[in-house]
Amino acid sequence: MSCIFCKIVEGAIPAKKVYENEHVIAFHDIQPQAPVHVLIIPKKHIPTMNDAAGEDFVLIGEMHRAAQEVARELGVDQTGYRLINNCGKHSGQEVFHIHYHLLGGEFLGPLVS
Ligand code: AMP
Ligand code: ZN
Repeated sequence: MSCIFCKIVEGAIPAKKVYENEHVIAFHDIQPQAPVHVLIIPKKHIPTMNDAAGEDFVLIGEMHRAAQEVARELGVDQTGYRLINNCGKHSGQEVFHIHYHLLGGEFLGPLVS
């Protein structure tokens, strides 16, 4: 399996984990774009949001549960944060294992500038 996020799930490559449960892990992005920049991923390999089906939508709910928890743990729940999923070419998706970026810790400005 060549997927870098699957390797993080397996522990084959290191990550600064901030949250883990049966279904989901969250870890700091290696190239942070904000003071808080965490990636939230399912343990199951799903390449893009377009590929989610059936029970995967329960997992996507688990990703939102993790986001709420991570935001609280990292102290940005009250100041606010942004959750972003990139899907496909026009979004600039680089890692084809679905993930949310959780960004916060400062005013983020408009979504598209
Ligand atoms: P995306 O463009 O939405 O596919 O985002 C992929 C994100 O994964 C980027 O923000 C990268 O900085 C991040 N990333 C890639 N490799 C790693 C890694 N080994 N550990 C943590 N974050 C990573
Ligand atoms: Zn994967």
